[in-house]
Amino acid sequence: MNLLQVTFERTYADAVPGLSLAWRAKPVADPELLKLNEPVARELGFDPAWLRSPEGVRLLVGEVPEHVETVAQVYAGHQFGGYSPRLGDGRAVLLGEIVDDTGHRRDLHLKGSGRTPFARGGDGLAVVGPMLREYLISEAMHALGIPTTRSLAVVATGEPVRREGPQPGAVLARVAASHLRVGTFEYAAAAGDREQLQALTDYAIRRHYPDAAHAERPALELLRAVARAQARLIVDWMSVGFIHGVMNTDNMTISGETIDYGPCAFMDEFDPATKFSSIDQQGRYAYGNQPGIAQWNLARLAEALLPLIDDDQKQAVELATEVLGEFGELYNELALERMSAKLGLAEPDAEIVEEGLRLLHEQKVDFTGFFRALAAGTAADLFTDSDAYEAWAEKREQRLPADREAMRADMDALNPAYIPRNHVVEQALAKATLGDLGEVERILEAMSAPYVERPGFEDLAAPDPDSGFGFATFCGT
Ligand code: AMP
Ligand code: MG
Ligand code: MG
Repeated sequence: MNLLQVTFERTYADAVPGLSLAWRAKPVADPELLKLNEPVARELGFDPAWLRSPEGVRLLVGEVPEHVETVAQVYAGHQFGGYSPRLGDGRAVLLGEIVDDTGHRRDLHLKGSGRTPFARGGDGLAVVGPMLREYLISEAMHALGIPTTRSLAVVATGEPVRREGPQPGAVLARVAASHLRVGTFEYAAAAGDREQLQALTDYAIRRHYPDAAHAERPALELLRAVARAQARLIVDWMSVGFIHGVMNTDNMTISGETIDYGPCAFMDEFDPATKFSSIDQQGRYAYGNQPGIAQWNLARLAEALLPLIDDDQKQAVELATEVLGEFGELYNELALERMSAKLGLAEPDAEIVEEGLRLLHEQKVDFTGFFRALAAGTAADLFTDSDAYEAWAEKREQRLPADREAMRADMDALNPAYIPRNHVVEQALAKATLGDLGEVERILEAMSAPYVERPGFEDLAAPDPDSGFGFATFCGT
């Protein structure tokens, strides 16, 4: 392999040329590979040893041969409820598409690769800490079994980037089923070019939900497929206490993968109002709001698709509204099933689930730790008012399956022992920013098998013992 032989497919840029611009990554004088995901490299057909070579690292910062036409994608989006007509890849380029070793088409995308025409006020850059954070959390999500973009590599640029102080620059190479977002549809719909909207819709169906092509109303079926994928995704998030933090419509994928790990974090003590993002003043994207926000975002997708759903717009609105209702029903059904299974119940049981969660909330119990302790028979220790717990536990006892050993194994397979605990991750990233990736590697090792307890990772199984100052995350760095 050499750099001149690198080629990518570009079906998106060709299918809807109006939705991306030819653009090249900013050259990096002295790139240094910090982290390479060898399994993902192999899935994509790259030799990891070559990607580690100076030529491979040049590819990972977007220094591609002339015949490779890379692009910046345009999209719109509702950010914290307000509409931004033109966002787009402000600091990213799409290198191209690769059909992987299982036949799936995937985007290879760079973040932090310099300003583009969509950069607005931004510098187009990214820094080591947040890019390693995305790498770490996205890989953790994958190992937790949650659909997500993957991380292929983080490369340090050797150039300082101005943030609160100077920070080492970095480029993240990210892999996604596609980068189609709700915001992509909003942009195409607002442009008022029906042919382009149709081309985008046809493309999304071909790439993600080919069965929808045979439906009576393919655009409606696309909406339904996205709504189902998102319902499943949000159930996954909720079941591990994941808080995305910036569920703007430009950060919601059509594929149903989690995307854009900015201010995301995992909840410790159970509280539906939990939010970490310092820019989310109102708590719009708090833990308990995520299902409703997903539905709100799907309504924006529905609006964009209306002209294609039916020529009679009144009819289109009715049909789309029905699908949004189906989202709510499916979410509630799957969430109840999942929470019941997390508790080891033989059958879904709303009463036990709701009472259990209320107890966790009232007594400020660690969400992740609780389910493991419940399977191990030590959960009572986590409650200050153990009478309330025992009363609930007795009711639960009546609803458990006969085979308790199998139940415990099933619970442990569903309830992670480890999550990327916020304080542990922050300390690891601070060290990594100074050049020591040891702690990042340790967390990655723990999170590669989050359901299996092993020695050496105890700090990822419990909340910060010294907490109290209130953990906050920051956006867009
Ligand atoms: P996000 O909140 O990460 O989803 O980003 C929202 C928008 O801001 C997207 O269009 C990004 O491309 C853009 N953006 C974020 N950070 C930067 C930056 N440093 N330079 C240019 N654009 C950026
Ligand atoms: Mg984004
Ligand atoms: Mg971001």
